[in-house]
Amino acid sequence: MKTNNLGYPRIGSNRELKKASELYWSGNITAEELIAIGKNIRKENWAIQREAGIDLIPSNDFSFYDQVLDLSLTLGVIPEQYAAFAKENLVLDLYFAMARGAQKGGQDVVAMEMTKWFDTNYHYIVPEFTKNQEFSLLSEKIIDEYKEAKVAGYETKPVIIGPVSYLLLGKEKQEGFHRIDLIDKLLPVYFDILQKLQDQNVAYIQFDEPFLALNLSDVERAALVQTYTQINEKFPNLKIILANYFDCFGENLATALSLPVHAFHIDLVRCPLQLDDILESNLLTKNTILSLGVVDGRNIWKNDFKNSLTLIQKATDALGTDRVWIAPSCSLIHSPCDLDLETNEETLTPEIKQWLAFAKQKIDEVVTLRNLATNEITENDQALFEENTLANINRKKATIIHNDAVKNRVAAIVEKDSKRNSPFSIRRQQQIDALKLPLFPTTTIGSFPQTPEVRSWRAKFKKGELSPIEYDALLQKETEETIRFQEESGIDVLVHGEFERNDMVEYFGEQLDGFAFTKNGWVQSYGSRCVKPPVIYGDVSRPNPMTVKWAQFAQSVTSKWVKGMLTGPVTILQWSFVRNDQPRSVTCTQIALAIRDEVVDLEKAGIKIIQIDEPAIREGLPLRKEEWATYLEWAIRAFRISASGVSDDTQIHTHMCYSEFNDIIQNIADMDADVITIECSRSQMELLDAFADFKYPNEIGPGVYDIHSPRVPSSQEMVDLLEKAAAVIPIDQLWVNPDCGLKTRHWDETKKALIEMVKAAKQMRVAV
Ligand code: GLN
Ligand code: ZN
Repeated sequence: MKTNNLGYPRIGSNRELKKASELYWSGNITAEELIAIGKNIRKENWAIQREAGIDLIPSNDFSFYDQVLDLSLTLGVIPEQYAAFAKENLVLDLYFAMARGAQKGGQDVVAMEMTKWFDTNYHYIVPEFTKNQEFSLLSEKIIDEYKEAKVAGYETKPVIIGPVSYLLLGKEKQEGFHRIDLIDKLLPVYFDILQKLQDQNVAYIQFDEPFLALNLSDVERAALVQTYTQINEKFPNLKIILANYFDCFGENLATALSLPVHAFHIDLVRCPLQLDDILESNLLTKNTILSLGVVDGRNIWKNDFKNSLTLIQKATDALGTDRVWIAPSCSLIHSPCDLDLETNEETLTPEIKQWLAFAKQKIDEVVTLRNLATNEITENDQALFEENTLANINRKKATIIHNDAVKNRVAAIVEKDSKRNSPFSIRRQQQIDALKLPLFPTTTIGSFPQTPEVRSWRAKFKKGELSPIEYDALLQKETEETIRFQEESGIDVLVHGEFERNDMVEYFGEQLDGFAFTKNGWVQSYGSRCVKPPVIYGDVSRPNPMTVKWAQFAQSVTSKWVKGMLTGPVTILQWSFVRNDQPRSVTCTQIALAIRDEVVDLEKAGIKIIQIDEPAIREGLPLRKEEWATYLEWAIRAFRISASGVSDDTQIHTHMCYSEFNDIIQNIADMDADVITIECSRSQMELLDAFADFKYPNEIGPGVYDIHSPRVPSSQEMVDLLEKAAAVIPIDQLWVNPDCGLKTRHWDETKKALIEMVKAAKQMRVAV
């Protein structure tokens, strides 16, 4: 029974790769230095895995930016505009030009498009295909890294994204073809790679085909059969491991199991029942191996050995120990590196820490499980088993997890708790009377520039170098100045600026019960960007108001309306590590009740407009369409619970970025926010069409300028966009605002842009 790992975090346990990449980009270290740091990380990762006892250690799981971009470079899929960078013969420069855009010697290219890797928070660079796309072996990274490992003394299993998933991850840059049609042209390059690996005496190769977990067309399924049949014919001696993860095979089961490969890897964390499906189907050909993904690669909880051993036992009973491998559910790039680095007992108590496992610990779990499942149990394994059992019992019984008041409150929720008192048409008139806003009311999305100064105050406050009173005084001054600017520029609905917040989820998590924080629990989001999600370990409740003080302060210094600013329950859930001992929907509902209390308290404090941000609603959608409805039902309900505790004349806003809403517009409307602000300027208002076609009934603020760039737009540009919006949405439903929060911008450009924005709104009012 072998132990198998699909991929190891490549950022380095102290984010060495992030730091080195950023130094290289700013010209502070050389390419050779960066390459050396990459090499070191690889070597360390291989050493950790071998020391733990992993049999099938991956190579080519390292990447300087993204594994999909690595493969595009390997296969020569380079969009035309980057060709000039290729000529310079420095692969790294071409690579980063595609990843990040570049300006050099008169060349000026933007970055390639980035999008989410399935339902994770990892983002990959989208391959671009033309109708006559050619493929050729441009980079030998996969072969080089195998050789590098060998020289360092490691026999590894190269990992590559399978050809079908690679094509499906990309997009067509021209009309008149489907990218899956390119399979015939693509396969020969894969064969080149396999030939070279075979020449190096590689034994095992892992092909990732995570699209097997999605709804596939017949043509796509046929491409899978063609691919793996041909590989088997040409390379009968290579042992191909076909890896699927993030969901089960579903209706692709029969196709998948018919493929002539050496082993299948399956994700038993997301889909434990599929083990029965596979074993009962009798479709697994004789001798084929099953790699059981029993250790969660996506979350930070310690494995439950008893549970896993039951699954493993079931598999070995049917297949024998030789045909079963033990593995994490997916690549560990979605886990933080090493729990041993968590030494801050204040934010992560020993009690909670004993329930967790990061990548390094997960590797150990895989090996221990294997030992426990075979007859090689040593005293140490036995001790580890007992420790694991105890930790899991402790977790179930822990008083800090369970809060009966919260559970009872969730159980007592009734229909009316997720409904405003009156329908929008009635609320609307009351809000018009109460708020007296002009046509085309202007507002912002919440945050104003977080200057280095503001950040330094927070750092000093956290270190104890500023007292709470001193810190508050500084923030009050910044907030008041921001209010004054908004008044002077003529904005109608003001915000306090969010200067007290580090991050829109962490700020709330820190004040809610049921959340813990890590010091070093970084996970790669894209390129050098890493995130450190909070850990939701227990029932969530709100001991005290979280934002009322700042909203109230801001409202006290102005006679205009100040909008209260909250993060919504789905976004808090989505951007955290969520407990796995109850359904996500229950945890989300608990958060919703906490936010509801905050909304009610804001109203009591005299705040008449309250925004509940939900930028992550869309990314929570399950991979399979048939599961969308269930998710949307509880997610939208959670938002409504958070928003429905106030009277009709209190106006609820929500905000979402990346607003591709065509397929869920009914659900967005069901949220029943009085006003929604969305990102729109980069698409020239095209994203608004979904709302227009649907005849979206409530008010809507399509972003009129892009906050991702320092560029100051002219009022005329914004008038043009507003006219486009006014052509499809009744003007008394329209708001005027930027695309998103302004926290990453400088003050100078922010002021100029907002002054232009108010000018644009005034011009629109005159034209009416
Ligand atoms: N209110 C938040 C801000 O302005 C919203 C951020 C977001 O949508 N991602 O920063
Ligand atoms: Zn936004």
